[in-house]
Amino acid sequence: MAAPIGSEIERLIQLLARLPGLGPRSARRAALHLIRKREALLVPLADALKLAAERITVCPICNNVDTRAPCGICEDERRDKSLLVVVADVGDLWALERAGTLRARYHVLGGTLSPLDGIGPKELGIERLVARVAEGEIKEVVLALNATVDGQTTAHYITDALAPLSIKVTRLAHGVPVGGELDYLDEGTLAAALRARTAM
Ligand code: ZN
Repeated sequence: MAAPIGSEIERLIQLLARLPGLGPRSARRAALHLIRKREALLVPLADALKLAAERITVCPICNNVDTRAPCGICEDERRDKSLLVVVADVGDLWALERAGTLRARYHVLGGTLSPLDGIGPKELGIERLVARVAEGEIKEVVLALNATVDGQTTAHYITDALAPLSIKVTRLAHGVPVGGELDYLDEGTLAAALRARTAM
């Protein structure tokens, strides 16, 4: 008996189901949508994926992903060379770039320290980060890491590792989100906001 769905379509569904946020059910819906929009969506998406698979590479300086190496951010001469922002993932870099307040360069760790998952300083290449800072151009390192236990453990580890270089190490203020109502904040956020209070 023939399968109810062609094996190529079945494969498409299986691959889509591996994407974050998509289960088998949404994957089937997405596949059907792609098939219906063959010219408008499926073909351009296939081309974009092929190009991405061929060209996207990891920046040897900062671990960002781009179609060139070094990446566009590392090569951007208008950025402040004295300011280095350390993030856990490329997604965090994108978020900070969308916020658009800093014209800095980055260092993507690729995760946070997590001994239980076997992620130590070696896996995150912290030695390479220290070596980069030791080159002398960087005057301030901003640790833009998550306000989680792993994120803060990583921040403290990097602070200690950079201590011999005697440069300025800062971190993001943890506090009240813009538009946030105090009543809705958890105690941890509220306590951090109080500790990081600023003069009016
Ligand atoms: Zn780069």
